[in-house]
Amino acid sequence: MKLNSWRRKVALAASVILPMGLVGAGQVTQASATPIQQPGTAGTAAEPRYDLILDNGHVIDPKNNIDGVRDIAVRDGRIVAVAKSLNPKGAEQVVNARGKYVTPGIIDMHAHMFVGPANDYAAGWNSVAPDGFTFRAGVTTAVDTGSAGWENFEEFKTNVIDRSKTRVLSFLNIVGKGMAGGEREQDLENMQAGPAAEVALQNPDHIVGIKTAHYSGPEWDPVRRSVQAGEIADVPVMVDFGSDSEQRTIEQLLTQELRPGDVYTHVYSGLRRELGDDGRLNPALHAGRERGIVYDVGHGGGSFSWDVAVQGMKEDLPPDTISTDLHITSMNSGMKDMANVMSKMVTLGMSLEDVVKASTWTPAQVIQRPDLGHLSVGAPADVAVFSLDRGRFGFVDSFGFRLDGKEKLTAELTLREGDVVWDLNGIAATEWKPGRDRD
Ligand SMILES: [Zn+2]
Repeated sequence: MKLNSWRRKVALAASVILPMGLVGAGQVTQASATPIQQPGTAGTAAEPRYDLILDNGHVIDPKNNIDGVRDIAVRDGRIVAVAKSLNPKGAEQVVNARGKYVTPGIIDMHAHMFVGPANDYAAGWNSVAPDGFTFRAGVTTAVDTGSAGWENFEEFKTNVIDRSKTRVLSFLNIVGKGMAGGEREQDLENMQAGPAAEVALQNPDHIVGIKTAHYSGPEWDPVRRSVQAGEIADVPVMVDFGSDSEQRTIEQLLTQELRPGDVYTHVYSGLRRELGDDGRLNPALHAGRERGIVYDVGHGGGSFSWDVAVQGMKEDLPPDTISTDLHITSMNSGMKDMANVMSKMVTLGMSLEDVVKASTWTPAQVIQRPDLGHLSVGAPADVAVFSLDRGRFGFVDSFGFRLDGKEKLTAELTLREGDVVWDLNGIAATEWKPGRDRD
């Protein structure tokens, strides 16, 4: 695959994340964790070395090639040690994670969170407030995909990004007004590469890409202007292809228009000839993968079909990134939440490690944020703890069809920069006993 400029940037940045003198978490042992331990204070109650230890969980950290039982220590909002065994006496709090899976905080690369009084997704009622729906599914970083455009990004930042504990990022809509619905999203005049790139360059901490969506006309301008903005701002483009047509085909999109590293979302929707009449995937999907196009689930309310997803697995086309397309409709239908969508991918036969990778380290690379999506020493302590329950579970696609599965992920505990922000069964809480002193 041809490496474009941001891929190279990702590779470079990834190699310099760790503080000098510390090795990658994959190689961390008790001994190599010693630089952050203070001799003489080990285990004393007065001076704990760690704020919290997640004890004995099965850690899946694909970036660091960890798939096994580890202890993880957190201090001042960062991961400070990952080892087979850490001294629990050195921690202010120890959370027993035995029998559970511990993963990097999940990155949901497709969500709609520009909530407000309007009717659609842009400052609208179809979006949802991030903190209400992220942590409970293990998500610590959520990327809003195009709800805000270059005209109203500032409003999105003030009203949502700055007020959320979830790390909220954005694929900025090439449409100035964002996802304001109907004709406003068909207005070519309001799709401008220059201003979109400018706003992206002014907000490098929050804008990680450009989005084009819902376009139904025959012109290529929405895609081409998005790519142009992406080139200027050096960020990827995500495409919701709207409707494909004779003049505007998925074949041309995936093999000519998009660049390697750009994202095709709703990959299993079946709404844009992803699946042929012969029941096989459109060969353009394979050609796109060869070129390095990123395939994103973007489940949504109408964009996930078992027909396409099952065939995708058969033809060895699993998604690169797993995401929800979270909004008020999808969360109340077959999609539900990120843990449910991840469980669907397990049901389809992806290994748990691949599912975690497609929900952590891969999206982090796609959005050029190599500081996220892993549990390396020095990384932000964004962590998810899941139970993997076994039984009979029904998973519904966007067309009302149920596929039964035997395993289901449930988010038990979520840490955001070291703080407990979700704790389903109180595993981080102190057990109540009669007469217990509340201090
Ligand atoms: Zn969407």
